[in-house]
Amino acid sequence: MGKPFLVVLWLTSILVVSEGQDETLLSVFQGPTEVTIRLSRDPVSLSEGSADYGHMVHKSPVAIMNPVATSDISVLIKFSNSLTVPFKVAARGEAHSVSGQAMTDGGVVVNMSNFRDVNNGGGVLVTSESTAAIGDYVDVGGGQRWIDVLRDTLKRGLSPRSWTDYLYLTVGGTLSNAGISGQTFRFGPQIQNVYELDVVTGKGEEVTCSPEINSDLFYAVLGGLGQFGIITRARIALGSAPSRVKWLRLLYNDFSVLTSDQERLISMNESVQTNIPNYLEGSLLHNESSLDLSFYPQTDRPRITSLINQNGIVYILELAKYYTNDSQTTVDKEVEELISRLKFVPTFVFEKDVSYEEFLDRVRSDELVLRPQGLWDLPHPWLNIFVPKSRILDFGEGVFNGILLNQNLSAGVVLFYPMSRNKWDDKMSAMIPDEEIFYVVSLLQTSTYDKVEAYQKRNQMVLQFCKDAGIQIKQYLPHNMTRNDWTDHFGVKWKVFQQRKARYDPNHILSPGQGIFTEQ
Ligand code: FAD
Repeated sequence: MGKPFLVVLWLTSILVVSEGQDETLLSVFQGPTEVTIRLSRDPVSLSEGSADYGHMVHKSPVAIMNPVATSDISVLIKFSNSLTVPFKVAARGEAHSVSGQAMTDGGVVVNMSNFRDVNNGGGVLVTSESTAAIGDYVDVGGGQRWIDVLRDTLKRGLSPRSWTDYLYLTVGGTLSNAGISGQTFRFGPQIQNVYELDVVTGKGEEVTCSPEINSDLFYAVLGGLGQFGIITRARIALGSAPSRVKWLRLLYNDFSVLTSDQERLISMNESVQTNIPNYLEGSLLHNESSLDLSFYPQTDRPRITSLINQNGIVYILELAKYYTNDSQTTVDKEVEELISRLKFVPTFVFEKDVSYEEFLDRVRSDELVLRPQGLWDLPHPWLNIFVPKSRILDFGEGVFNGILLNQNLSAGVVLFYPMSRNKWDDKMSAMIPDEEIFYVVSLLQTSTYDKVEAYQKRNQMVLQFCKDAGIQIKQYLPHNMTRNDWTDHFGVKWKVFQQRKARYDPNHILSPGQGIFTEQ
């Protein structure tokens, strides 16, 4: 693209602001020089700041801030608070949200992915000096991606213990939600694996917090949907890294048999039993055109397809067993022993042996296949919910065998796996069901633009089904919620959530895209 063309675009973008934005635009650019020199209104940045992975919501910020130090963010927020009408500030990680949570209409987007400079606290600093109080840890910038955290810690033979399925998400973004995956049943969500945070609050104060100091802010921010402060540094717990992984998929034709196997596996007592999976998830195979059997050997695909044809749905139990060079000789025996107690369809067990990084970064290989086909940048009308264990079979019957099969739409990727409430500290802002064991169920659809509404309608049917059947779910990565929905969502914690908002962000500046305290 030629330079003159860019200049014209830039000038146009200055002119194309909606009426309500004029004043904010003027105020923002009349702020302190420390703020204005970090602001950008170039069309490419503005366009990036007005979209996300969901491709269903678009909002128009007046500017993008590219901070190079924590103090830039602090000055911006303090400046906003000093105005009669403060402007909104939305931290943006990688914008892997699906419903505008990292956006703002008429406010400033803070581009956290710019804040990765190690000299200014935005990098990855691994410390392996275990103390009696805490073990190894890594200090990482809030805008840092988990893939970079993995690669840097691996150089020291260390690794975070709790993950998400996809690693091109930011530390600040997942810690604002929970950060869950197949390791959560053992180590809790990512928010349970944090020793300390640096946060810039909604008043612009730079605060270090932990379970010991400023603990109220610490617990507020973890799972706090960006409402109380912007995370600029997190101290994350590390364990020793394995080198390789036995990665297994076992196929079932009965949902109740699979869930009881899953529940047995996550309930194994680590102090008594040493042979426990390191990762456990579950998913569905539906008979549909987008059926992905790439994990399985070519020669086995026909018999898998015929199992699906016989049953309509096949359920997958996915587990991983990590190993090191030292345990190489024993791992096969351990895997054999582990699965000998499971009730999958005989002979339908499939195994891969991959490096630890390859295993954790597995979704990236899907992305690299989908991107060139234009299938990654389509709308994603996702729904993630936590379902209490006592109702998971009712949910499976009503949703997997009912709603998902009876619609003329693809089921998409469907994940489900259990975790334990006792691995989640209730002081954190994240919300989970009020039952000791609960499942995450993720309906991860990719839609063409013309079908988005149909998928959204189907998601509503799932929520309505739960309501009618009295299944007390909680949404994970909640969105499209009314004020009443939010009150219900936070339940007994709503009052504390409101008090914390008044304490740390009294002018309701931060993360307006969540739609909790503002309409947008
Ligand atoms: P963004 O989408 O940019 O931001 C999310 C929210 O956090 C916004 O409200 C934003 O304002 C706020 N925020 C961002 N940075 C900060 C910060 N530094 N401080 C305070 N607030 C901040 N989630 C899981 O838990 N497990 C999974 O396995 C998983 N897999 C995924 C796979 C894919 C392909 C995708 C696209 C998403 C997946 N997610 C998963 C969801 C992911 O956790 C959320 O999208 C989350 O928001 C992180 O994305 P992000 O870092 O891009 O944050």
